[in-house]
Amino acid sequence: MSIIIDGKAYAAELRGQIKAGVEEIKGKHSITPGLAVILVGNDPASEVYVGNKGKMCREVGMEAFDFRMLADTTESQLIAKIKELGQDKKVNGILVQLPLPKHINESAVINAIDPLKDVDGLHAINAGKLATGQDGIVPCTPLGCLMLIKSVARDLSGKNALIIGRSNLVGKPMAQLLLRESCTVTISHSRTKNLPELCRNANIVVAATGKPEMIKGEWIRSGAIVIDVGINRIHLSDGSTKLVGDVAYAEALQNAKAITPVPGGVGPMTIACLLANTLKAACLQHNIENDLASGFLSISNVEQINN
Ligand code: NDP
Repeated sequence: MSIIIDGKAYAAELRGQIKAGVEEIKGKHSITPGLAVILVGNDPASEVYVGNKGKMCREVGMEAFDFRMLADTTESQLIAKIKELGQDKKVNGILVQLPLPKHINESAVINAIDPLKDVDGLHAINAGKLATGQDGIVPCTPLGCLMLIKSVARDLSGKNALIIGRSNLVGKPMAQLLLRESCTVTISHSRTKNLPELCRNANIVVAATGKPEMIKGEWIRSGAIVIDVGINRIHLSDGSTKLVGDVAYAEALQNAKAITPVPGGVGPMTIACLLANTLKAACLQHNIENDLASGFLSISNVEQINN
């Protein structure tokens, strides 16, 4: 029988521990961690994500600051806002909701964030730290994926891990994290020629392509761990819609040792890890040694969260 990895339950547990961490730094240091989220334009999906992030922040005792900017905001206006928030002591984390309107250069915007406040872990400094094995802020989605993988397999050393997708947000940092765990990592993408064969050789598959159910069950090796990052809304013949992942879930369930559902797998962990990153950022900015904050993000301690 396959294990269905309950990301919702793990995320709730993680948020409980973050709440305790927030109470600790409030009580001992009179600091309330604060997260600023900037949304440019009014993309409906982004509006929902931003609303959820604010709500979750408040639930764990953090402050949430929402900044809505018009779709025709210029790059320099956005960067000016980011610089202003960089100076604001009440703001420990800055997140710019992606994607940005086409006229704005995403890299320029991300690199304008103070790396110590870069709770998405996308700044070149944090990406470089991850790539060189230094402690920095790790992107939320891959961090959550690693926690879910480690909830079902403690020792990943020597395992064949296949990452499907090479984005800066998911695929590349995921590969770095699994390399840190001494996996043998393969990164595949849209030009990869032998994806089914690579899948059949993988003990761990992380799918992040945005292509609904493209990874077939028969590609999944018996006993593999399958982490499905994709969130795709598909239209059914009766006119309704439903969310599916990048993996053909029902088929893959037959072969996998453990698999994440969509929804209810990776998604909830992403937001929980954003909160963990905000707590970590607050601790880093105030030179606070906080066991809880470092425990969340020190990958070798991930089991503590799940036990
Ligand atoms: P991107 O569009 O940035 O990257 C997609 C990657 O998939 C690219 O590297 C692309 O290759 C690769 N790809 C596309 N088609 C194929 C194919 N046929 N075979 C192999 N690789 C392919 O997406 P993101 O990384 O930002 O997100 C991926 C998915 O994860 C999306 O569905 C997104 O909604 C979801 N997501 C979910 C989150 C969550 O919290 N659950 C958080 C973030 C994202 P190439 O580089 O060659 O184009």
